[in-house]
Amino acid sequence: MKISLEGISRLFDGTVPAVDDVSLEIGSGRLVALLGPSGSGKTTILRMVAGLDFPDRGTIRFGAEDATTIPVARRGVGFVFQHYALFPHMTLAENIAFGMEALTPKRTKAAIAARVAELLGLVRLAGLGDRFPAQISGGQRQRVALARALAVEPRVLLLDEPFGALDAAVRRDLRRWLREIHDELGITTLFVTHDQEEALDLADEVVILQAGRIVQAGTPAEVTRRPGSPFVLEFLGDANRFEVVVEGGGARFGSARLAVSGVPDGRAILYARPRDLAWATGGEGVSARIQRVLDRPDSRRLVAVTPDGLAVELDAPPEAPVRPGEEGVLAALRWQVFPA
Ligand code: ATP
Repeated sequence: MKISLEGISRLFDGTVPAVDDVSLEIGSGRLVALLGPSGSGKTTILRMVAGLDFPDRGTIRFGAEDATTIPVARRGVGFVFQHYALFPHMTLAENIAFGMEALTPKRTKAAIAARVAELLGLVRLAGLGDRFPAQISGGQRQRVALARALAVEPRVLLLDEPFGALDAAVRRDLRRWLREIHDELGITTLFVTHDQEEALDLADEVVILQAGRIVQAGTPAEVTRRPGSPFVLEFLGDANRFEVVVEGGGARFGSARLAVSGVPDGRAILYARPRDLAWATGGEGVSARIQRVLDRPDSRRLVAVTPDGLAVELDAPPEAPVRPGEEGVLAALRWQVFPA
């Protein structure tokens, strides 16, 4: 089921729109992430797709059907929310069966039990149907929540920070698992997150929002390799920022001259991610002094300071023999420049 948002806006207080003229197409069977900082309108968009809230302007289509004003109960969507708690007094099986009792045509008890067993298998919790939510882990509870959302055979699956409350390792496992389930079922899925790594790992397409507007949409490769603005570049991960002057297709970076294209002459900002800078004891680049070395499992993060006090972060291989206090130069391997 394809979902189309056509120029939707939502004004809560009549002044600043929470969602501002958003148009977006979510192809059938795709997994799309809405990514943006707190307050950028992600949840409001998701709620309008769900039928829990309605746009002040614009149209939402499910396939060719105008779904803009169809209420939640008739929209055929399944949700998983971060705090969409399971019913504590019901077993996992009863939680999953809950929405199925209201389905039409009515399912027999045996059909419901068979479907519940199938869903428990799908979310890798076979045999645990008689447990209560308090008897399983947080990650397992979110898997039950997904089984419950899928029980009603939704046309569309909506997930709002479903792993937000879980620790990093569990989140990573659940991410991989959710992608597998999505690929197995092929259900059109819209996923809200403020975690760029989660969006990039999971989604076919990432839609980046800022203040209620889409600022960029594309595959993870497109948005990471070709961020369209400083906001997107900074939001997608650590980046060092240098003020430079562009002149005739180049910018001075310390004693080096870097090629710049598509940016007019004048003041500009040069961005380089920590992995895109190298540390050398001599050569061309920006002079700096190592202030700190942070050892990480797969790299060493160097914090260098330039003579004018700018702190710069860069990554070196785990075995790099760098010491605090060392003098050297920062060389840019890759960079991106935006007009200031
Ligand atoms: P978060 O990541 O913090 O959940 P979000 O990107 O999902 O943020 P929304 O919850 O969609 O953002 O909120 C967008 C804007 O709309 C915010 O400024 C918020 O304060 C406002 N807003 C959301 N719901 C309402 C409401 N019911 N009444 C008034 N304003 C609201």
